[in-house]
Amino acid sequence: MTAPAVTTGLADLRERWFAALREELPGALELRRSIHADPCLSGQEEPTARLVEEAMGVALERVAGTGRVGRLGPVQGPSVLLRGELDALPLHEATGAAYASRTGHMHACGHDVHLAALVAVVRAAARLDLPVGLVPLLQPREETYPSGAQDAVASGALQRYAVAAAVGAHVHPGVAPGHVATGAGVVNAAADEIEVVLRGRGGHGAYPHHAADPVAAISHVVLGLPELMRRTVSPMRPSVLSVGHLQAGQPSANVLPAEARLLATLRTTDPDDRVQIQEAVRVFAARQAEAFGLEAQVTVTSGEPVLVNDPAVVERMDAWLGRSGLVAAEPMRSLGADDFSFFGEVVPSVMAFVGVTVDGHDAPPPLHHPEFLPTDEAVGHVAGALVCGYLAAAELVAEGLLPVPSELAHEAHPSIGAVEEWSG
Ligand SMILES: [Zn+2]
Repeated sequence: MTAPAVTTGLADLRERWFAALREELPGALELRRSIHADPCLSGQEEPTARLVEEAMGVALERVAGTGRVGRLGPVQGPSVLLRGELDALPLHEATGAAYASRTGHMHACGHDVHLAALVAVVRAAARLDLPVGLVPLLQPREETYPSGAQDAVASGALQRYAVAAAVGAHVHPGVAPGHVATGAGVVNAAADEIEVVLRGRGGHGAYPHHAADPVAAISHVVLGLPELMRRTVSPMRPSVLSVGHLQAGQPSANVLPAEARLLATLRTTDPDDRVQIQEAVRVFAARQAEAFGLEAQVTVTSGEPVLVNDPAVVERMDAWLGRSGLVAAEPMRSLGADDFSFFGEVVPSVMAFVGVTVDGHDAPPPLHHPEFLPTDEAVGHVAGALVCGYLAAAELVAEGLLPVPSELAHEAHPSIGAVEEWSG
Protein backbone atom coordinates (compact mmCIF):
# COMPACT_ATOMS: atom_id res chain seq x y z
CA MET A 1 0.00 0.00 0.00
CA THR A 2 2.63 2.54 -1.00
CA ALA A 3 0.38 4.88 -2.97
CA PRO A 4 -1.76 6.24 -0.08
CA ALA A 5 1.39 6.73 2.04
CA VAL A 6 3.00 8.69 -0.77
CA THR A 7 -0.04 10.90 -1.21
CA THR A 8 -0.30 11.51 2.55
CA GLY A 9 3.36 12.50 2.65
CA LEU A 10 2.96 14.80 -0.31
CA ALA A 11 -0.26 16.31 1.09
CA ASP A 12 1.65 17.24 4.22
CA LEU A 13 4.49 18.62 2.10
CA ARG A 14 1.99 20.65 0.07
CA GLU A 15 0.60 22.30 3.19
CA ARG A 16 3.99 23.20 4.57
CA TRP A 17 5.16 24.40 1.14
CA PHE A 18 2.19 26.75 0.67
CA ALA A 19 2.65 28.07 4.22
CA ALA A 20 6.33 28.79 3.48
CA LEU A 21 5.31 30.37 0.14
CA ARG A 22 3.08 32.87 1.93
CA GLU A 23 6.13 34.00 3.90
CA GLU A 24 8.28 34.26 0.78
CA LEU A 25 5.75 36.19 -1.33
CA PRO A 26 6.43 39.75 -0.08
CA GLY A 27 10.12 39.35 -0.98
CA ALA A 28 9.17 37.82 -4.32
CA LEU A 29 6.93 40.80 -5.14
CA GLU A 30 9.85 43.16 -4.44
CA LEU A 31 12.06 41.06 -6.69
CA ARG A 32 9.40 41.08 -9.42
CA ARG A 33 9.44 44.89 -9.38
CA SER A 34 13.23 44.99 -9.64
CA ILE A 35 13.25 42.57 -12.57
CA HIS A 36 10.43 44.44 -14.27
CA ALA A 37 12.08 47.86 -13.88
CA ASP A 38 15.33 46.66 -15.44
CA PRO A 39 14.52 44.20 -18.24
CA CYS A 40 17.15 42.44 -20.37
CA LEU A 41 16.71 41.45 -23.99
CA SER A 42 17.21 37.90 -25.28
CA GLY A 43 20.85 36.85 -25.18
CA GLN A 44 21.74 39.70 -22.80
CA GLU A 45 20.10 38.34 -19.64
CA GLU A 46 23.21 38.17 -17.44
CA PRO A 47 22.12 40.97 -15.02
CA THR A 48 18.69 39.37 -14.54
CA ALA A 49 20.21 35.89 -14.13
CA ARG A 50 22.61 37.20 -11.48
CA LEU A 51 19.83 39.01 -9.61
CA VAL A 52 17.56 35.96 -9.60
CA GLU A 53 20.34 33.54 -8.66
CA GLU A 54 21.28 35.73 -5.70
CA ALA A 55 17.65 36.01 -4.56
CA MET A 56 17.19 32.25 -4.85
CA GLY A 57 20.07 31.55 -2.49
CA VAL A 58 20.95 28.27 -4.19
CA ALA A 59 24.22 27.48 -5.99
CA LEU A 60 23.50 27.35 -9.70
CA GLU A 61 25.71 26.58 -12.67
CA ARG A 62 25.68 28.29 -16.02
CA VAL A 63 23.73 26.78 -18.87
CA ALA A 64 22.88 27.90 -22.42
CA GLY A 65 24.92 31.10 -22.20
CA THR A 66 23.34 33.42 -19.65
CA GLY A 67 21.08 30.71 -18.16
CA ARG A 68 21.39 28.99 -14.77
CA VAL A 69 20.49 25.56 -13.48
CA GLY A 70 20.89 23.77 -10.14
CA ARG A 71 19.32 21.24 -7.82
CA LEU A 72 17.68 21.12 -4.37
CA GLY A 73 16.47 18.19 -2.31
CA PRO A 74 18.03 14.72 -2.52
CA VAL A 75 21.28 14.86 -4.47
CA GLN A 76 20.66 11.48 -6.09
CA GLY A 77 17.73 10.08 -8.01
CA PRO A 78 15.10 11.61 -10.24
CA SER A 79 14.21 15.29 -10.20
CA VAL A 80 11.54 17.68 -11.47
CA LEU A 81 12.61 20.67 -13.58
CA LEU A 82 10.81 24.00 -13.06
CA ARG A 83 11.46 26.63 -15.71
CA GLY A 84 11.54 30.43 -15.53
CA GLU A 85 12.36 32.55 -18.60
CA LEU A 86 14.83 35.41 -18.30
CA ASP A 87 14.26 37.61 -21.33
CA ALA A 88 12.16 40.71 -22.04
CA LEU A 89 10.96 42.25 -25.32
CA PRO A 90 12.04 45.27 -27.39
CA LEU A 91 8.88 47.19 -26.56
CA HIS A 92 8.14 50.60 -24.97
CA GLU A 93 6.14 50.08 -21.79
CA ALA A 94 2.89 52.03 -21.48
CA THR A 95 1.55 50.79 -18.14
CA GLY A 96 2.30 53.93 -16.12
CA ALA A 97 3.33 51.70 -13.20
CA ALA A 98 5.69 53.14 -10.58
CA TYR A 99 8.19 50.37 -11.40
CA ALA A 100 7.71 50.59 -15.19
CA SER A 101 10.77 50.06 -17.35
CA ARG A 102 12.30 53.20 -18.83
CA THR A 103 14.79 51.43 -21.08
CA GLY A 104 12.61 50.88 -24.13
CA HIS A 105 12.49 47.17 -23.30
CA MET A 106 9.71 45.50 -21.38
CA HIS A 107 8.68 42.35 -19.58
CA ALA A 108 5.43 42.18 -21.56
CA CYS A 109 5.24 38.38 -21.58
CA GLY A 110 5.12 37.92 -17.79
CA HIS A 111 8.64 36.50 -17.45
CA ASP A 112 9.21 38.84 -14.47
CA VAL A 113 6.23 37.17 -12.77
CA HIS A 114 7.50 33.67 -13.61
CA LEU A 115 10.99 34.38 -12.21
CA ALA A 116 9.69 35.90 -8.97
CA ALA A 117 7.34 32.93 -8.53
CA LEU A 118 10.16 30.45 -9.13
CA VAL A 119 12.33 32.21 -6.54
CA ALA A 120 9.51 32.01 -3.97
CA VAL A 121 8.99 28.31 -4.75
CA VAL A 122 12.68 27.49 -4.42
CA ARG A 123 13.23 29.55 -1.24
CA ALA A 124 10.20 27.90 0.35
CA ALA A 125 11.36 24.45 -0.81
CA ALA A 126 14.80 24.99 0.73
CA ARG A 127 13.15 24.78 4.18
CA LEU A 128 11.43 21.48 3.42
CA ASP A 129 12.35 17.84 3.01
CA LEU A 130 11.76 17.17 -0.67
CA PRO A 131 11.15 13.56 -1.73
CA VAL A 132 12.67 14.05 -5.21
CA GLY A 133 15.08 16.64 -6.59
CA LEU A 134 13.89 20.07 -7.65
CA VAL A 135 15.79 21.59 -10.57
CA PRO A 136 15.21 25.32 -11.13
CA LEU A 137 16.19 26.36 -14.65
CA LEU A 138 16.57 30.04 -15.52
CA GLN A 139 16.21 29.93 -19.27
CA PRO A 140 17.56 32.58 -21.63
CA ARG A 141 16.30 33.38 -25.14
CA GLU A 142 12.69 32.24 -25.04
CA GLU A 143 11.61 35.09 -27.32
CA THR A 144 14.24 34.72 -30.07
CA TYR A 145 16.35 32.17 -31.90
CA PRO A 146 18.53 30.34 -31.18
CA SER A 147 16.22 28.89 -28.53
CA GLY A 148 17.54 28.86 -24.95
CA ALA A 149 15.47 25.77 -24.16
CA GLN A 150 16.99 23.88 -27.07
CA ASP A 151 20.47 24.88 -25.94
CA ALA A 152 19.72 23.82 -22.35
CA VAL A 153 18.56 20.40 -23.59
CA ALA A 154 21.57 20.09 -25.90
CA SER A 155 23.90 20.86 -22.96
CA GLY A 156 22.86 17.55 -21.39
CA ALA A 157 21.51 19.34 -18.28
CA LEU A 158 18.42 17.11 -18.17
CA GLN A 159 20.54 13.97 -18.02
CA ARG A 160 23.08 15.54 -15.63
CA TYR A 161 20.35 16.45 -13.13
CA ALA A 162 18.36 13.25 -13.72
CA VAL A 163 15.27 15.21 -14.75
CA ALA A 164 12.21 12.93 -14.87
CA ALA A 165 9.63 15.63 -15.72
CA ALA A 166 9.53 19.33 -16.61
CA VAL A 167 6.95 21.90 -15.54
CA GLY A 168 6.39 25.41 -16.86
CA ALA A 169 3.75 27.97 -15.88
CA HIS A 170 2.94 30.96 -18.09
CA VAL A 171 0.62 33.85 -17.30
CA HIS A 172 -2.21 34.12 -19.83
CA PRO A 173 -4.76 36.90 -20.34
CA GLY A 174 -7.27 34.41 -21.77
CA VAL A 175 -7.56 32.45 -18.52
CA ALA A 176 -9.62 33.68 -15.53
CA PRO A 177 -7.65 34.84 -12.49
CA GLY A 178 -7.12 32.04 -9.97
CA HIS A 179 -7.59 29.50 -12.74
CA VAL A 180 -4.84 27.33 -14.20
CA ALA A 181 -5.27 25.70 -17.62
CA THR A 182 -3.25 22.52 -18.14
CA GLY A 183 -4.86 20.16 -20.67
CA ALA A 184 -3.52 16.80 -21.84
CA GLY A 185 -2.08 16.60 -25.33
CA VAL A 186 -1.19 19.35 -27.78
CA VAL A 187 -1.40 22.86 -26.30
CA ASN A 188 0.93 24.74 -28.70
CA ALA A 189 1.99 24.17 -32.29
CA ALA A 190 5.25 23.44 -34.03
CA ALA A 191 6.41 26.61 -35.80
CA ASP A 192 8.48 26.85 -38.99
CA GLU A 193 9.30 29.71 -41.31
CA ILE A 194 8.97 29.22 -45.05
CA GLU A 195 10.53 31.49 -47.66
CA VAL A 196 9.59 31.17 -51.32
CA VAL A 197 11.61 33.07 -53.94
CA LEU A 198 10.55 33.00 -57.58
CA ARG A 199 13.09 34.14 -60.18
CA GLY A 200 12.61 34.98 -63.84
CA ARG A 201 13.38 37.84 -66.21
CA GLY A 202 12.40 41.47 -65.73
CA GLY A 203 11.23 43.81 -68.46
CA HIS A 204 8.89 46.60 -69.59
CA GLY A 205 5.29 46.50 -68.44
CA ALA A 206 4.12 47.16 -72.02
CA TYR A 207 6.03 44.10 -73.29
CA PRO A 208 5.28 41.37 -70.74
CA HIS A 209 5.60 38.72 -73.48
CA HIS A 210 9.33 39.50 -73.63
CA ALA A 211 9.76 39.08 -69.86
CA ALA A 212 9.19 36.27 -67.35
CA ASP A 213 8.12 38.26 -64.33
CA PRO A 214 7.08 36.53 -61.09
CA VAL A 215 4.28 38.85 -59.85
CA ALA A 216 1.35 36.77 -61.09
CA ALA A 217 3.07 33.51 -60.22
CA ILE A 218 3.78 34.44 -56.61
CA SER A 219 0.17 35.63 -56.32
CA HIS A 220 -0.95 32.18 -57.45
CA VAL A 221 1.31 30.64 -54.80
CA VAL A 222 -0.14 32.86 -52.04
CA LEU A 223 -3.73 32.09 -53.03
CA GLY A 224 -2.99 28.40 -53.51
CA LEU A 225 -1.44 27.77 -50.08
CA PRO A 226 -4.71 27.45 -48.10
CA GLU A 227 -6.00 24.93 -50.67
CA LEU A 228 -2.70 23.07 -50.46
CA MET A 229 -3.12 22.84 -46.68
CA ARG A 230 -6.71 21.64 -47.09
CA ARG A 231 -5.69 18.73 -49.28
CA THR A 232 -2.53 17.81 -47.33
CA VAL A 233 -3.46 18.00 -43.66
CA SER A 234 -6.56 16.43 -42.11
CA PRO A 235 -9.01 19.10 -40.96
CA MET A 236 -9.21 17.15 -37.70
CA ARG A 237 -5.64 18.24 -36.88
CA PRO A 238 -5.20 21.98 -36.35
CA SER A 239 -2.67 23.67 -38.65
CA VAL A 240 -2.28 26.97 -40.43
CA LEU A 241 0.01 28.60 -42.97
CA SER A 242 -0.02 32.41 -42.93
CA VAL A 243 1.84 34.62 -45.38
CA GLY A 244 3.23 37.60 -43.50
CA HIS A 245 5.43 39.19 -46.14
CA LEU A 246 5.15 39.56 -49.91
CA GLN A 247 7.55 41.54 -52.03
CA ALA A 248 8.15 42.04 -55.75
CA GLY A 249 9.83 44.83 -57.68
CA GLN A 250 10.21 48.51 -56.97
CA PRO A 251 7.37 51.04 -56.65
CA SER A 252 7.07 51.41 -60.38
CA ALA A 253 4.02 50.75 -62.51
CA ASN A 254 5.79 49.89 -65.72
CA VAL A 255 8.89 47.95 -64.65
CA LEU A 256 8.42 44.20 -64.39
CA PRO A 257 10.64 42.67 -61.69
CA ALA A 258 12.80 39.58 -62.06
CA GLU A 259 12.24 38.32 -58.53
CA ALA A 260 9.46 37.95 -55.97
CA ARG A 261 9.58 36.68 -52.41
CA LEU A 262 7.19 35.63 -49.69
CA LEU A 263 7.63 34.69 -46.04
CA ALA A 264 5.10 32.51 -44.27
CA THR A 265 4.76 30.96 -40.83
CA LEU A 266 3.73 27.32 -40.73
CA ARG A 267 1.98 25.97 -37.61
CA THR A 268 1.30 22.26 -37.26
CA THR A 269 0.28 19.94 -34.44
CA ASP A 270 1.48 16.62 -35.87
CA PRO A 271 5.09 15.73 -36.80
CA ASP A 272 4.07 13.93 -40.02
CA ASP A 273 1.88 16.83 -41.12
CA ARG A 274 4.85 19.10 -40.54
CA VAL A 275 7.04 17.13 -42.95
CA GLN A 276 4.31 16.58 -45.54
CA ILE A 277 3.15 20.18 -45.83
CA GLN A 278 6.73 21.39 -46.14
CA GLU A 279 7.23 18.98 -49.03
CA ALA A 280 3.90 19.96 -50.59
CA VAL A 281 4.88 23.65 -50.53
CA ARG A 282 8.18 22.81 -52.27
CA VAL A 283 6.45 20.90 -55.05
CA PHE A 284 3.66 23.46 -55.41
CA ALA A 285 6.04 26.43 -55.66
CA ALA A 286 8.26 24.58 -58.15
CA ARG A 287 5.33 23.59 -60.41
CA GLN A 288 3.82 27.08 -60.31
CA ALA A 289 7.20 28.54 -61.20
CA GLU A 290 7.64 26.06 -64.02
CA ALA A 291 4.22 26.88 -65.46
CA PHE A 292 5.20 30.55 -65.66
CA GLY A 293 8.75 29.96 -66.94
CA LEU A 294 10.39 30.75 -63.61
CA GLU A 295 12.59 29.09 -61.05
CA ALA A 296 11.61 28.53 -57.44
CA GLN A 297 13.73 28.42 -54.31
CA VAL A 298 12.04 27.26 -51.11
CA THR A 299 13.77 27.60 -47.74
CA VAL A 300 12.36 26.09 -44.58
CA THR A 301 13.72 27.28 -41.24
CA SER A 302 12.74 24.95 -38.38
CA GLY A 303 11.35 26.47 -35.21
CA GLU A 304 9.86 25.01 -32.04
CA PRO A 305 8.45 21.48 -32.01
CA VAL A 306 4.84 20.87 -31.01
CA LEU A 307 4.15 21.36 -27.29
CA VAL A 308 2.45 18.31 -25.79
CA ASN A 309 1.29 18.12 -22.18
CA ASP A 310 1.74 14.67 -20.65
CA PRO A 311 -1.71 13.24 -19.74
CA ALA A 312 -0.58 11.51 -16.53
CA VAL A 313 1.18 14.59 -15.13
CA VAL A 314 -1.79 16.78 -16.15
CA GLU A 315 -4.27 14.52 -14.36
CA ARG A 316 -2.28 14.57 -11.11
CA MET A 317 -1.52 18.28 -11.41
CA ASP A 318 -5.20 19.18 -11.80
CA ALA A 319 -5.93 17.27 -8.59
CA TRP A 320 -3.17 19.11 -6.70
CA LEU A 321 -4.46 22.45 -8.05
CA GLY A 322 -7.90 21.62 -6.68
CA ARG A 323 -6.42 20.81 -3.25
CA SER A 324 -4.55 24.13 -3.29
CA GLY A 325 -7.41 26.56 -3.85
CA LEU A 326 -6.67 26.98 -7.55
CA VAL A 327 -9.18 26.09 -10.25
CA ALA A 328 -8.07 23.56 -12.86
CA ALA A 329 -9.53 25.33 -15.91
CA GLU A 330 -10.42 24.21 -19.42
CA PRO A 331 -7.31 23.64 -21.58
CA MET A 332 -5.88 26.70 -23.33
CA ARG A 333 -4.90 25.37 -26.74
CA SER A 334 -3.58 27.53 -29.57
CA LEU A 335 -1.27 27.47 -32.57
CA GLY A 336 1.13 29.72 -30.71
CA ALA A 337 4.57 28.27 -29.97
CA ASP A 338 6.84 28.12 -26.91
CA ASP A 339 10.30 26.59 -26.85
CA PHE A 340 9.36 24.81 -23.60
CA SER A 341 8.37 22.08 -26.09
CA PHE A 342 12.06 21.12 -26.39
CA PHE A 343 11.93 19.83 -22.79
CA GLY A 344 8.76 17.92 -23.61
CA GLU A 345 10.57 16.10 -26.41
CA VAL A 346 12.93 14.55 -23.85
CA VAL A 347 10.81 14.11 -20.69
CA PRO A 348 7.09 14.14 -19.80
CA SER A 349 6.15 17.78 -19.31
CA VAL A 350 3.32 20.18 -18.59
CA MET A 351 2.96 23.80 -19.59
CA ALA A 352 0.24 25.42 -17.49
CA PHE A 353 -1.42 28.72 -18.38
CA VAL A 354 -2.19 30.84 -15.33
CA GLY A 355 -5.01 33.41 -15.37
CA VAL A 356 -4.30 37.06 -14.54
CA THR A 357 -5.96 40.41 -14.03
CA VAL A 358 -4.49 43.70 -15.26
CA ASP A 359 -5.42 46.89 -13.40
CA GLY A 360 -7.49 49.32 -15.47
CA HIS A 361 -8.60 46.64 -17.97
CA ASP A 362 -11.83 44.65 -17.80
CA ALA A 363 -10.30 42.21 -20.27
CA PRO A 364 -6.51 42.03 -19.91
CA PRO A 365 -4.51 43.17 -22.96
CA PRO A 366 -2.76 40.39 -24.89
CA LEU A 367 0.74 39.11 -24.17
CA HIS A 368 3.48 41.30 -25.74
CA HIS A 369 1.21 44.38 -25.39
CA PRO A 370 2.76 47.58 -23.91
CA GLU A 371 0.02 47.61 -21.23
CA PHE A 372 0.28 43.96 -20.21
CA LEU A 373 1.10 44.08 -16.48
CA PRO A 374 -0.44 41.31 -14.37
CA THR A 375 -1.35 42.30 -10.80
CA ASP A 376 0.70 41.01 -7.84
CA GLU A 377 -1.54 38.03 -7.16
CA ALA A 378 -0.21 36.46 -10.40
CA VAL A 379 3.12 35.75 -8.65
CA GLY A 380 1.40 33.63 -5.98
CA HIS A 381 -0.75 31.84 -8.54
CA VAL A 382 2.20 30.97 -10.78
CA ALA A 383 4.15 29.79 -7.72
CA GLY A 384 1.18 27.64 -6.67
CA ALA A 385 0.94 26.13 -10.15
CA LEU A 386 4.66 25.26 -10.15
CA VAL A 387 4.40 23.59 -6.73
CA CYS A 388 1.37 21.57 -7.93
CA GLY A 389 3.33 20.52 -11.03
CA TYR A 390 6.22 19.37 -8.86
CA LEU A 391 3.87 17.41 -6.56
CA ALA A 392 2.18 15.74 -9.55
CA ALA A 393 5.50 14.60 -11.00
CA ALA A 394 6.87 13.58 -7.58
CA GLU A 395 3.78 11.45 -7.02
CA LEU A 396 4.29 9.66 -10.34
CA VAL A 397 7.99 9.15 -9.59
CA ALA A 398 7.12 7.64 -6.19
CA GLU A 399 4.67 5.27 -7.84
CA GLY A 400 7.24 4.24 -10.45
CA LEU A 401 5.13 5.67 -13.26
CA LEU A 402 7.76 7.95 -14.80
CA PRO A 403 10.68 6.50 -16.78
CA VAL A 404 14.07 6.32 -15.05
CA PRO A 405 15.94 9.43 -16.25
CA SER A 406 19.17 7.57 -17.06
CA GLU A 407 17.27 5.61 -19.67
CA LEU A 408 16.06 8.74 -21.45
CA ALA A 409 16.55 8.68 -25.16
CA HIS A 410 17.80 12.00 -26.43
CA GLU A 411 15.60 12.35 -29.46
CA ALA A 412 17.22 13.83 -32.52
CA HIS A 413 15.36 16.67 -34.15
CA PRO A 414 16.36 19.46 -36.53
CA SER A 415 17.95 22.20 -34.50
CA ILE A 416 15.99 25.39 -34.32
CA GLY A 417 16.96 27.79 -37.06
CA ALA A 418 18.22 24.85 -39.16
CA VAL A 419 17.75 25.85 -42.74
CA GLU A 420 16.82 23.48 -45.52
CA GLU A 421 17.01 24.88 -49.00
CA TRP A 422 15.48 23.45 -52.09
CA SER A 423 15.57 24.79 -55.62
CA GLY A 424 13.55 23.65 -58.60
ZN1 LIG B 1 6.56 34.16 -22.67
